[in-house]
Amino acid sequence: MTLPLYNPTTSPFKTGIACKCPRCQQGRVFNGYLKVAKACDACGLDFGFSDTADGPAFFAMSIVSPFSVAMALWLQFAYEAPIWVQAITTLPFTVLGCMFFLRPLKGWLLCSQYVHLVREGKLKS
Ligand SMILES: [Zn+2]
Repeated sequence: MTLPLYNPTTSPFKTGIACKCPRCQQGRVFNGYLKVAKACDACGLDFGFSDTADGPAFFAMSIVSPFSVAMALWLQFAYEAPIWVQAITTLPFTVLGCMFFLRPLKGWLLCSQYVHLVREGKLKS
């Protein structure tokens, strides 16, 4: 039996934001919105190595929050907007903006973990 040859991605960013498998670039990484699949549906790569933790949330908040703060300040100083206007504009913008970035950022971090052989640290005994 010969195993198929795979060329792991050379661009974890491009492959990751497309949410594709880092080994074959064909299979899907997610089995839902943010739930990582057990294995690639195309090549069978076990995604058990994946542990992106809070990384995607940190990057999503870092990207979206400056715009959210700018929007809130602009609404406040330009229009003296009441709090309910902030609640129906700035809050949904922030939540939806973070949700927009979470999935591709998680795919990127997962892909980077595979390419750079990141694994959980273990102490030698
Ligand atoms: Zn694959």
